[in-house]
Amino acid sequence: MNIVELGLRALGVTDADVQNGFKDAEVQLQDGSKRTVRLSAVAPSLREPLLRRYATTGDTRTVVRPMLSGEFTTDDFLDSLAPWSLAQLSTAAVGLCFGVEQLRSLVNHGARMFLEETAQSERRACANQLQMLDQATQQWAFEKGKRASDAPTMLDLAEFLFGGIPHCPSGGSYSLSRVDGHPHCSVHTESQTGN
Ligand SMILES: [Zn+2]
Repeated sequence: MNIVELGLRALGVTDADVQNGFKDAEVQLQDGSKRTVRLSAVAPSLREPLLRRYATTGDTRTVVRPMLSGEFTTDDFLDSLAPWSLAQLSTAAVGLCFGVEQLRSLVNHGARMFLEETAQSERRACANQLQMLDQATQQWAFEKGKRASDAPTMLDLAEFLFGGIPHCPSGGSYSLSRVDGHPHCSVHTESQTGN
């Protein structure tokens, strides 16, 4: 899985979204709850400067803010978003702004900083969640008196996961392991060994 594939997958913007001129995207807040927000395409004149600024500064808010519908544009709301949700929103915003095909060709021509940023932040978020699953597995084993060879189900771990059952931001699926092993993500296979 390369960065471009990962980025386009995370993007989740279809040609139909571009034609509609908006996309309803689900985002996760820092407290684990979810909201649906609407991203609207902005005037064509905004496109070029927006992308350039995003590509050079990585400022996701600069891209997202003008495209979010009213109640979601406040700093409070943007602060309340999980970092990978904000990164995902901004990639979706760029996708809406440019269209899927143009984005693909931009990527092919090397303007891929925004996708790398998204992929990196998703990888980090996923690694954190794998660590949480690992810790929850240890806690489950300790409190339920399990052995090294026992393996929990997600349902078993639910009571030890305070933010709810985590999902890989890139759409990977998690497989839990025995108490003496480590959980895995089907997408982020390279991050199993830490970081
Ligand atoms: Zn993952």
